[in-house]
Amino acid sequence: MALDVYAVCPCGSGKKLKFCCHGLEGSIEQVVRHQSAKQYKQALQLLNALDKKHPQSAWVKNLQAFTLMMDKRGPEAIGPLTKVLQVQPDNLYSISLFGLASFLGSGWKAGKTAIQRAFQRCSNEYPHIIYFLARSVAEFMGSVGSPLAHRQYLGLAMRLASEENRENVFMELIEFDGDTKIPYILRGSHDLVPVAGDEAFEKEVRKSAKLAFLGCNEAAGGLFAKLAETAETELAALSGDDAAKKRVAVASLWWNSGLCRAWDGDEKAAAEALHRSAKHSDEFEAAVEAETLAQTLGRRGDREHAHRVVQSTYKVKMVSKLLTLLDATPLFVRLPPPEGQAPDPRQPVATYRVLDKNPVIGSDSASYSLDTVPRVAAEIVVFASAAPGQQEAALAIIGIEGESFTDSLAKLEAAGGEEIEKLTAPGTGESISTNSVFEKEFLPLQYKRHFEASTPLGIIRRINRDNWSKFLTNDWPEMPLAALGGKTPKQAIGDDSVRVPLAAWLQQIDMYADRFGLPFDVPDERAKYSLPVATPRDVNEHTSVGTLSVLQFARLPFDKLSDQQLVAAFKRAALIQHKGSLRSLLLTIVERTSCHDQLDMARVYRFLSDLGSLLMETSEAIRWLDKERARTVSASEQFEHELDCDMRELRYRLDDPHDPACSNLLRRMWEHYGTKVPELRGYVTGIVNHYKVAAPWMTDGEAVGAITSGGVWTPESAAEKPAGENKLWLPGQS
Ligand SMILES: [Zn+2]
Repeated sequence: MALDVYAVCPCGSGKKLKFCCHGLEGSIEQVVRHQSAKQYKQALQLLNALDKKHPQSAWVKNLQAFTLMMDKRGPEAIGPLTKVLQVQPDNLYSISLFGLASFLGSGWKAGKTAIQRAFQRCSNEYPHIIYFLARSVAEFMGSVGSPLAHRQYLGLAMRLASEENRENVFMELIEFDGDTKIPYILRGSHDLVPVAGDEAFEKEVRKSAKLAFLGCNEAAGGLFAKLAETAETELAALSGDDAAKKRVAVASLWWNSGLCRAWDGDEKAAAEALHRSAKHSDEFEAAVEAETLAQTLGRRGDREHAHRVVQSTYKVKMVSKLLTLLDATPLFVRLPPPEGQAPDPRQPVATYRVLDKNPVIGSDSASYSLDTVPRVAAEIVVFASAAPGQQEAALAIIGIEGESFTDSLAKLEAAGGEEIEKLTAPGTGESISTNSVFEKEFLPLQYKRHFEASTPLGIIRRINRDNWSKFLTNDWPEMPLAALGGKTPKQAIGDDSVRVPLAAWLQQIDMYADRFGLPFDVPDERAKYSLPVATPRDVNEHTSVGTLSVLQFARLPFDKLSDQQLVAAFKRAALIQHKGSLRSLLLTIVERTSCHDQLDMARVYRFLSDLGSLLMETSEAIRWLDKERARTVSASEQFEHELDCDMRELRYRLDDPHDPACSNLLRRMWEHYGTKVPELRGYVTGIVNHYKVAAPWMTDGEAVGAITSGGVWTPESAAEKPAGENKLWLPGQS
């Protein structure tokens, strides 16, 4: 290791090597060699020996800490670092390592001071360590459900990443922005806004923004809040133009404070600040955006007021005996086992649904309605015992808390009798545990409906759609909402004091609709509640459409964008997939032929046809699909292109599997493609059997099994599921 003795010492002291750790280079070189070979034990042995000989060396202690962290012994790294910092409180190498060690050893909250100090002071000198810290914090924020903080620390990691890591972080950011399970308002970038004022004030604003830029979001959020409080006090004494100007500053400062709080992972404080921003904002759409963000974050931070999906677990004596008992219980329906799956002891041996009435049978659409289709009050999964000492035979009953779940429990206990014995959840001692939670206002949409397996998809979708319409026209308008001061949306019509929160609530519904593929037209709904028509966003040739927030993007007048901007807008929309703005953008693109050669038009048509299908407009879906069919492709791609288009048409037409157009397609699959792609015949057979489609053209004896995993389509994937994901706990499971 040929180090210049007049260069800064690598120990972080800030002194020149010659006057600091000169003489240790040879030994350290050996340590580094072990480190690069991942021989941490050997590296630490050497370092411990060196530390005895040179107890004053910060270099040795810092490398000890670094090696301990590499060896996943983060908490132990705090010891040597504390010793260095007592003597050299400004050793930047130690400060950066101490931030990382504190995060790994004490966690985000307890390690906050050390973590923020590392972010604030070390990103220039030790970017690789701060990069690692930012990425670790980002991962933590993702795991605790703080998406804005997750994204912000990923962005910080991206800025500090070395060439080789940058691509990775970039892909993570793209994945985040395209994750449609995250409400769209939380995806994409959110920016601090400039705040005008006198020189001293602007200096403070810049200081806060700098802190946020470095990743010290708690400090930044606090400073912005302090400035906002002061400005709010000053506002009280002002009038006219001065007051109007001050009000803009107050709204901007609270907005900035709220963003920093959210980037810090403190959703509750963020929501409070953003509510205040919304209250002071003089521009309706900006206020709605701040309020929408506030509502979304507030609800995420408020798990107590969420509605629960609960679970009770029982030990089972004899599985076969229990199944006989449950099979004989009225309104307990056993689901057919998943097709084509190998037996797996981790999978349930049986799944039952507890219904509130008998299932509807047949494919006559008229007999299906919200009143006739049964609701699923609870689901019961039965597991056989695995190997001795592992999982015992057990059952879990899961449902939405409330009367129907209590009833189902009683029915199960009466039916199971001696064969089942109630267990308590580990840790809590309670017999009922929380499986997942959802926002309580969406309760009417959470109950699953039960359909027999052969029910046409179109009927299932229609019933789900009817339930959605009922929610929009009956349930929600009559719900007293905290955001409206306890008023119902209906009562809030015409009340100016709550029109911002009411408009923001419509965005909450739009986010739900967006996630579950349900139709919702924000402008229409706004009109119903006498809310203002959204003003289009100003655009000029400099507008960067790729970095706007989702709500600002949705207000873009797409027809006024240049070709180049339109191309950028498409890229962005294809990533976020906010359905509310996607369609009008796509229609603008179809009209603007001058930009077609810069775009993947197959993708444009695909989005349009998929959107049509999602909205149950089959003929619209097929109209766009035919555009794709008409596209010229090379001879070698011809077969695949045709097959792909036909497969998609089949997917759209499966809403009504008994429609002759659908069975013609199935026949074409069987006869035309089936000879070249034999797997397709298995797929067609699966659909024909599932829906009991008449298929005289299907040759006997060739029917091969059913749709299996890896198949293109399963009926469940199209049906809407409740928000909760099951986290079952079972006895004997680790
Ligand atoms: Zn040194």
